Amino acid sequence: MRNSSQPLIVITGASSGIGLATARLFSSHGHPLLLLARRLEKMQALDLPQTLALSVDVTDRATLAAAVQEGEKRFGPADAIVNNAGVMLLGEITRQDPDQWDRMLDVNVKGVLNGVHAVAAGMVGRKRGSIINISSVAGRKTFANHVAYVGSKFAVHGLSENLREELSAHNVRVTTIAPGAVETELLGHTTDADIKTGYEAWKAGMGGKVLSAEDVARAVHYAYSQPDGVCVREIVLAATRQQA
Ligand code: NDP
Repeated sequence: MRNSSQPLIVITGASSGIGLATARLFSSHGHPLLLLARRLEKMQALDLPQTLALSVDVTDRATLAAAVQEGEKRFGPADAIVNNAGVMLLGEITRQDPDQWDRMLDVNVKGVLNGVHAVAAGMVGRKRGSIINISSVAGRKTFANHVAYVGSKFAVHGLSENLREELSAHNVRVTTIAPGAVETELLGHTTDADIKTGYEAWKAGMGGKVLSAEDVARAVHYAYSQPDGVCVREIVLAATRQQA
């Protein structure tokens, strides 16, 4: 049952950074929300109206699909999913633990596909919907110590464009958002201290003016809020002072 004149938006990785800022922004526009990430308390602490937060690991396809069903039962069909959950584990390729490659590919690529799986058939049936995938500038070009991360984000760009072509005939929009450096928790999961220090120095070189999570959330909302007949295929945004 729908409780709002605005339709349901599903956001993965809503417990911090870009996902959290996107949740706040869409909520301020009156949307009911289904928020998904592993840390439930962070999403509950947002205390947003008409919001169901569920602890979901996006690599768990069945649990993600069941969560979307639960959200749709409460708020009506999902009009958009923002596949945002991601991890960035930077590493020098000869030294990096391959388990970190697995994690990035599982979360960043299969997690996005699992999100697509949870909503695509319903959107095709309704002839309406938006799938917004968060990739990266690292989905368009390479960076030092980014081999597996770049691989995962090139995959997001590739699968998103292919998906857009396949769903266009069904009036379902697919958008890729590709941010440059954003101030979030993302770098914190990289385990190599030297690489982390180098990355922080790179950001400092931009005068400390990298993007905020809110900057990216506005791009997501811009793409979503276009008229139904307009599909924003890709948005690439980065700090003005980001050269690469
Ligand atoms: P954060 O680390 O702040 O947020 C990542 C989010 O993903 C968290 O909510 C986390 O929640 C969630 N997440 C991670 N693993 C899983 C999982 N297995 N299942 C469910 N949720 C998961 O980083 P950002 O906000 O920066 O990252 C969001 C997206 O933006 C990512 O896809 C990232 O690659 C992309 N991006 C970020 C850039 C940056 O510079 N920050 C630049 C370009 C792209 P929890 O831990 O609670 O599960």
